[in-house]
Amino acid sequence: MKKAAIYARYSSDNQREESIDAQVRAIKDYTEKNNIQIVKIYVDEARSATIDNRPQFLQMIKDSALGGFDLVLVHKLDRFARNRYDSAFYRRELKKNNVRLVSVLENLDDSPESVILESVLEGIAEYYSKNLAREVMKGMKETAYKCKHTGGIPPLGYDVSDDKSYVINQKEAAAVRLIFSMRAKSAGYNLIIEELNRLGYRSKRGNRFGKNSIHEILKNEKYAGVYIFNRSAAKVDGKRNNHKIKKDEDIIRIEGGMPAIIDKKLFNEVQDKMSKSKKGPAANKAKETYLLSGIIYCGKCGGSMVGNRKYAGRNRTLYLSYECSKRKRNKSCDMKSISKKFVEETVINELENTFFAPKAIEKIAQKIYDQAKFKANEINKDIPIFEKELRGIQKQIDNIVNAVASGLAHISFKSKMDDLEVQKATVERRLYEAKLQAEINSPSLENIKKYLAQNRNIKHKSLGTQKQVIQTYVKKVVVHEDNIETHFIVDLNGGGGGT
Ligand SMILES: [Zn+2]
Repeated sequence: MKKAAIYARYSSDNQREESIDAQVRAIKDYTEKNNIQIVKIYVDEARSATIDNRPQFLQMIKDSALGGFDLVLVHKLDRFARNRYDSAFYRRELKKNNVRLVSVLENLDDSPESVILESVLEGIAEYYSKNLAREVMKGMKETAYKCKHTGGIPPLGYDVSDDKSYVINQKEAAAVRLIFSMRAKSAGYNLIIEELNRLGYRSKRGNRFGKNSIHEILKNEKYAGVYIFNRSAAKVDGKRNNHKIKKDEDIIRIEGGMPAIIDKKLFNEVQDKMSKSKKGPAANKAKETYLLSGIIYCGKCGGSMVGNRKYAGRNRTLYLSYECSKRKRNKSCDMKSISKKFVEETVINELENTFFAPKAIEKIAQKIYDQAKFKANEINKDIPIFEKELRGIQKQIDNIVNAVASGLAHISFKSKMDDLEVQKATVERRLYEAKLQAEINSPSLENIKKYLAQNRNIKHKSLGTQKQVIQTYVKKVVVHEDNIETHFIVDLNGGGGGT
């Protein structure tokens, strides 16, 4: 039986909203029909729609990491998040913890179309949220492109001039040069620290050096003259951005943007040294990414296959494979293991040539589009209601303005006008959010196709992305002795679900 947490939210100043009781009741009906156990109920009651305070929501996100529930049930998707940016972020958080979001009213189900739709919507939401962050960051990036200091303590070896550009601090720069040249001659961190202390050098904050600070310095490309601006360190939306997004595209690197303290050759020498010394026995223990874990099955006994690594042959070459779990456990199956590389490449080729072939995409996109239209209907109903409300408020405002214009000034007009302005702003915000929700929940056929098509070159994506794409679109892989069957979540021949 699946375990679920309920999340309900209510703003007392919005009469149109279902009460918390009504939301919870509808969700309970749903859990009874679907055999789901409710383990916890989180409720936020907002005093005013203009103040956003959701302690229980954040607690629920936090708790999702503890494994107490598999689902979060909401009455309607807009209970879950205020806007698409929020939604994308928190959905990802839940997903990371293997918790799925289910909206009772929008009736997100487990049909293949729904699963794909959800991932498409998520992808599009992610795209939007990236764009938003980009907008916010524009100003900072402009500063960055001029190679200026964007805040905080400058790195050891540099000072910041009045116009915010970096200048070399000669005394500190000598310490930096010493650190690099000693490391290039294979000195360990302890020896370097000893020498720095002996010569009386201190860190930027005036402390003695530690191993971590030495490591940070040796890794910092700025010393070789590369200006680096990293968006993850910046603030988004006024709050500290803790998402720890550190994708390459978010990092600005400008060669020659900093006054160099050491030359490129020395910097590279040190990097080589450091990556070599890391490759001890620990590096060999690095975990492989098994792209097919959880969806690959043995064609002989039907059992699942699991990733396996062993060293074989005279050269003790590492051999990675998938092996039948029954064979591994007690030799009750005689299926041979299959090369990890071979079976993964086969599945990736299948995806590329069959599932993401232009013709198949047409077909899948149409199915998803129909599904999305159906779901967006519910959200679209809000828009005309808010629009009507807004027209009503505007009319009242106009009446007062006209009354004042024709000389009918009255002391009560002022406070009445203030009230109306507040109401107007609140409804405008709701209308805006409803439009955003509607937009993101009803992607155009063209956008769905584009989104699907970007997976076509799956071969060139990162391992993480490959795994995500495979786990979304491949239902299962069955390994036989002479062939490999790949089942997608949508049956491309028939009408309905996969096989
Ligand atoms: Zn087997």
